[in-house]
Amino acid sequence: MQRPLRLLPALILCIGACAAPETPTSETAEAPAAAPTAKPSVEWAIALHGGAGVISRDISAEKKQAYLDDLGAALALGRGRLEEGASALDVVEEVVRYLEDSPLFNAGKGSVFTHDGKNELDAAIMDGRDLNCGAISGVTRVKNPITLARKVMTDSRHVFFTREGAERFGQEMGVEMVEPEYYFTQRRWDSLQKALAREQAEEAAAPEDKHGTVGCVVLDKAGNLAAGTSTGGMTNKRFGRVGDVPVIGAGTYANNRTVAVSCTGHGEKFIRNAVAHDVSALVEYRGLGVAEAAEAVVHGKLEKGDGGLIAVGASGEIALVFNSEGMFRGAADSSGRFEVAIWGDDE
Ligand code: ASP
Repeated sequence: MQRPLRLLPALILCIGACAAPETPTSETAEAPAAAPTAKPSVEWAIALHGGAGVISRDISAEKKQAYLDDLGAALALGRGRLEEGASALDVVEEVVRYLEDSPLFNAGKGSVFTHDGKNELDAAIMDGRDLNCGAISGVTRVKNPITLARKVMTDSRHVFFTREGAERFGQEMGVEMVEPEYYFTQRRWDSLQKALAREQAEEAAAPEDKHGTVGCVVLDKAGNLAAGTSTGGMTNKRFGRVGDVPVIGAGTYANNRTVAVSCTGHGEKFIRNAVAHDVSALVEYRGLGVAEAAEAVVHGKLEKGDGGLIAVGASGEIALVFNSEGMFRGAADSSGRFEVAIWGDDE
């Protein structure tokens, strides 16, 4: 159904246009097999998301503003740190932590509930300089899963820890632990009850509030890329279910030669299509621009309603692409760009 455009405050501009495919430059089009060597056209760039899916346009003005405020505050945090010269990894971790601490998004505080009424969180981070990465899944007592994922990357000789092992490692590393009740929000609990009721009635689970996720991708002043993603997964997920977020190359990927990507949506689909790495591969092997590669994967390989992704390339090109009704998102760079949005036409 066509909805009227809604005007947002002056600071908040529509970024739907950012999802438009970009014509590849003759340079990239002529060098399909080579890694991009383009010099960044901006000093730094950042994009973030707070999840994609069926986001009702009927939410109250206050709630909409609360989302935009939190997205804007997280983006301003990242912008400030990048202006100071902070590293891409530091900025990714700090921005994702901010979003994890917000009860509005499905990550950290405010995570969705499993079928058994628990919160089991996944996260991953990746360093585009050397493909180093860290991931964790199924944690139930870690306040900021992105920080633990980073510790896995920097302080262990492994890439991926799960459940009790991940928590034991977190305790050894001194990351902040919380009681499981910390993640609770009434809204997510109510979503589970609705999903369970529908399931009992042998209907599909409620589409609204089913999932979400937070993520951030950054190009820093030194020309390095990093990506991080954190999630509570999907409402009503079964025991031990792990989504795409901590699967490197599915929900999270970064490579200085190509792109940093963070995904959100129906995790199983993103794993099957190795979405984040596929975007990187199109840039690396086919010489596509970042937006063009992201469009090709989100609209060409995934199905309508599956979700979306954010990406930033080595030249600072940002893509925010989704095939769902909306995606909480934001983008900024050193040219002065600073935008947050929810749907495709909310200017
Ligand atoms: N991709 C996440 C998962 O499947 C959920 C989401 O991003 O909405 O766990």
